Amino acid sequence: MTKAKDYRINQLANGQIISIEIKCCGNHIGEIRFLDGETRTCTICGTEHSLKVHHNHFHLSRIKHPN
Ligand SMILES: [Zn+2]
Repeated sequence: MTKAKDYRINQLANGQIISIEIKCCGNHIGEIRFLDGETRTCTICGTEHSLKVHHNHFHLSRIKHPN
């Protein structure tokens, strides 16, 4: 069983990442620039998707806000 990815990375031909498209609750909720601290909140479940960029990798974390 494969798990559906909830984001998609947009990058240039040379591999440089320019932006990330975020999906949540089966919907495309927005695109964020590849910058540390960028966030996008799902309007359906209220989960905040937060991007943390490090030297050679990045983390895309989900923070669930209680309703
Ligand atoms: Zn959601």
